[in-house]
Amino acid sequence: MEIIYQFGRISGLRLNVSKSQAVWLGSKTGSNETICDDLNILWTNDTFKVLGIVFTNNLKGMVDLNYKEKILSTKRLLGSWVQRDLTPIGKITILKSLALPKFIHLFSSLPNPSKAIISELDKIFFRFIWNNKPDKIKRSTIIGSYEKGGLNMVHIPSFISYIKIKWIKRIYNNPKGSWQKLLSYIFDIREDTEGVWGLNKHKLLELRKIISNEFWKDVISAIMLLKKDNLTTSEFLQEDIRNFCNISEYSFYTKWCLQGINCVNDLINQHGNFKQFEEIQNISGCNNFLKYYQIIEKIPMDWKKRIKEFKVNNSLLDVCEDDELLIKLISNKCIKFVYEILRNKVFQSPDTRIMKWKHELGNMNEEYNHYYLFPKKCSSDTSLIYFQYRILNRILSTNTFLFRLNISETNLCTFCAVEEETLTHLFYDCVHVRNLWNEIHQWLAELLKYFLMNRSFGPVLVLNQPVRKNFNWSDFFF
Ligand SMILES: [Zn+2]
Repeated sequence: MEIIYQFGRISGLRLNVSKSQAVWLGSKTGSNETICDDLNILWTNDTFKVLGIVFTNNLKGMVDLNYKEKILSTKRLLGSWVQRDLTPIGKITILKSLALPKFIHLFSSLPNPSKAIISELDKIFFRFIWNNKPDKIKRSTIIGSYEKGGLNMVHIPSFISYIKIKWIKRIYNNPKGSWQKLLSYIFDIREDTEGVWGLNKHKLLELRKIISNEFWKDVISAIMLLKKDNLTTSEFLQEDIRNFCNISEYSFYTKWCLQGINCVNDLINQHGNFKQFEEIQNISGCNNFLKYYQIIEKIPMDWKKRIKEFKVNNSLLDVCEDDELLIKLISNKCIKFVYEILRNKVFQSPDTRIMKWKHELGNMNEEYNHYYLFPKKCSSDTSLIYFQYRILNRILSTNTFLFRLNISETNLCTFCAVEEETLTHLFYDCVHVRNLWNEIHQWLAELLKYFLMNRSFGPVLVLNQPVRKNFNWSDFFF
């Protein structure tokens, strides 16, 4: 304690005894013994909180304990928003701006939560969006961008991986930093620990199996999601040579990398043949020819054939480029693109809905993104945007649908009561609706004419015309 006091006197960072708790760790875990009783420090055997994380003596239960606490507070928070009449778009904004931030600190500092916790979180979020009713849009679709037919809902597993990948960026920000050095012990690799992130999926999996630190296991799993499965020959030639050795020999081959033998291409001459050992020996300074042939042995036969073919046809092509994704990760200040890549892997576009519209309307623009983006461009009113989204996704209930569920007494149109009320009839074919469209068409034409005649007054004056000032698009539809 004397040392702590001396430190406080010198640095000005004094220990606040009244707010401190003491806990036994190691062999005395759970002991009721106390020391420094004159200080009146509160002794605890159970849990203590540091920087927003609850710590326990049992590290295994610690992760779920922290998440469960946040889940309870999230439920309370969302409960206070349930009564408000919000659209799913509004609710997604609440989730992303108020509920999700509660978990970011945990995602970033603790190992990933169990699958049960993730699915509970998912359940809470989606129940909130759909008012405790079944989902109206597939979860894999709603997570997409507006442009692609989604509502930008967060995909929790991708978001967690994205937060974990941010740590790789932090490593590269200062590879020789003090905490970065710890990775050398965690991965049991002496040099170039940052080179690990350039390894391929299989090698990372091998590394993941031998380390015991759960947090870094999750970071490795996250970066593995970004790695490609099928490589082109050019990409294969850029593969790090350490992908073809046992992970225990990583440090040995790191020396070769430092001497300039980095990738498969460095082992191959311009005719597509593997270089003679003497040539490698001159560069690497390694006298053990077995180490060289071990690597050649590990390169699959079909790749050897493809490399040969590639080199013969592209002898002048410079293939030695770096891992593009890793470069982007290190150099970009904002790495939101990582989340987008991960999300797009699970996203499913609303193809069946688009197909139905194409079937009904015939000549539609092939680029359906345009239709999904249009409401967002035209209005900032989320009720209107969501109304259009319901039409596009065909989840707006018409009499035909309600009649099928025995909720409506008729399947006929509310306005003309002659034809079946389908979406196309309700918004396009119906005689009454056609009249409305004609009126709108005329009104817009009038506006345009007025605007062209009074160009100098600008569009603001036109839109505030007294004649139509009570016109409200929402009134038409709600
Ligand atoms: Zn009708």
